[in-house]
Amino acid sequence: MKGPRGWIEIMEDFCKGCLLCVEDCPQNDIEVAPYLNRKGFRPALPRNEKCTGCGICFYSCPEPRGIKVFKTVVERKRA
Ligand code: SF4
Ligand code: SF4
Repeated sequence: MKGPRGWIEIMEDFCKGCLLCVEDCPQNDIEVAPYLNRKGFRPALPRNEKCTGCGICFYSCPEPRGIKVFKTVVERKRA
């Protein structure tokens, strides 16, 4: 299957800028925003180019409402 198999959303205003998700993403698919959020931190920013929907960033994030992970659902045809 081509293209990302998942994607994430980061709730920027809940982000503490700890960058654990940036360090832990095995696809290197999260970067640091060039701007500040309302708390004065540079939030994590999804690239959503190679995301597999693995969920590691969700478990890395200390902020309960920080990251939402979605997975692409593929319909399988019966043979
Ligand atoms: S779900 Fe996995 S691949 Fe996607 S951004 Fe999070 S850690 Fe990276
Ligand atoms: S782990 Fe959570 S709080 Fe830390 S930078 Fe990523 S989204 Fe922000």
